Amino acid sequence: MGGVKLENVRKVYPNGRAAVAGASFEVQPGELIVFVGPSGCGKTTLLRMIAGLEEISSGTLSIAGRVVNDLPPKDRDIAMVFQNYALYPHMSVAENMGFGLRLRGLARSAIETKVSDAATMLGLDHVLKMKPGQLSGGQQQRVAVGRALVREPKVFLLDEPLSNLDAKMRLSMRVEIARLHRRLGTTMIYVTHDQIEAMTLGQRIVVLKDGVIQQIDTPMRLYREPVNLFVAEFLGSPAMNTLRGIYRAAASGSIELSADTRIALGLAPATQARLTAYDGRKMVLGLRPEQLRLADAATPRDWPRCTAQVDVVEPVGSEVFVEMRWGACALTARLAPDCLPAVGDHLELGFDPAALHFFDAESEARID
Ligand code: ATP
Repeated sequence: MGGVKLENVRKVYPNGRAAVAGASFEVQPGELIVFVGPSGCGKTTLLRMIAGLEEISSGTLSIAGRVVNDLPPKDRDIAMVFQNYALYPHMSVAENMGFGLRLRGLARSAIETKVSDAATMLGLDHVLKMKPGQLSGGQQQRVAVGRALVREPKVFLLDEPLSNLDAKMRLSMRVEIARLHRRLGTTMIYVTHDQIEAMTLGQRIVVLKDGVIQQIDTPMRLYREPVNLFVAEFLGSPAMNTLRGIYRAAASGSIELSADTRIALGLAPATQARLTAYDGRKMVLGLRPEQLRLADAATPRDWPRCTAQVDVVEPVGSEVFVEMRWGACALTARLAPDCLPAVGDHLELGFDPAALHFFDAESEARID
């Protein structure tokens, strides 16, 4: 099985810009890792360098323990699934899936067996004789996966493979890819800009911004302990609430959001100790929307509270997203589906101070 190791891998395009600035990490054999980040962050460039479709400007890239910097794609023992499927329209599904094997000179009977096995695994048996144009988007995507599968590569590379599918199909293909990974146990590197896809598929996630890796970790650790404001706001939907203000250490800590808005935070002694150096300095507080609760008699007395005015109400069935204004701050809460406030209503909210995240206002790094 093939692990992938990057040591200070850089890509500078001829225009002089570093699309990937010194990436160092290891993908474990059999791992499903996701590269995620906004458009232009360098995730496709990173994947294409691993595939051998883009030259590395500097650094070392190894696959299954072998340095592959100068190895052409066909010798890297990888298979790539592209966003646009890249199927040959004049060939049948079976011919498309077997094409790579034919090029390698495999016997016709061996190709037929491998194609038939992959088709069964992907539920494509009944369409093997059809042309890609006769298939749905989801089926075409499955053919593209099947074509990669029959090559039995050490590493699968998938570049936004689901972005041309509608939301429902995306969801079912996502589940299929996860199932396929469990079944094959092959190393998979998956690129997406969709944080939900990243969170649900990745055993670990590499978060990129402007060509620089921000954090590599499991989905839940990224969610719970983002290293900076970018990661905090990128992962999670709706995004984390952020409140900028001046921290005051007196009592058990408070944040001054404006001249007339200050909120007592009721921080635990250990948290206060962590924040001592920020007394009188700017700080960013982060709070996930699910941590904002409607205050009632059961709300602990020591939880901070605020009264916010409802701006937008978005019921999504299982829950309601409520956007509010509190002074100059915007807040979003995820509330129970039976809570349907009207625009303009005032809601009293409370939250557990232990759920707060703290970031340096200048560097935007998490304060630990
Ligand atoms: P997207 O999600 O939009 O595909 P991405 O995160 O995959 O974005 P890349 O396609 O890797 O990002 O691009 C990273 C940066 O490198 C971008 O600023 C892009 O403009 C630049 N870039 C990509 N390909 C080239 C190229 N062939 N020549 C010059 N610059 C390029």
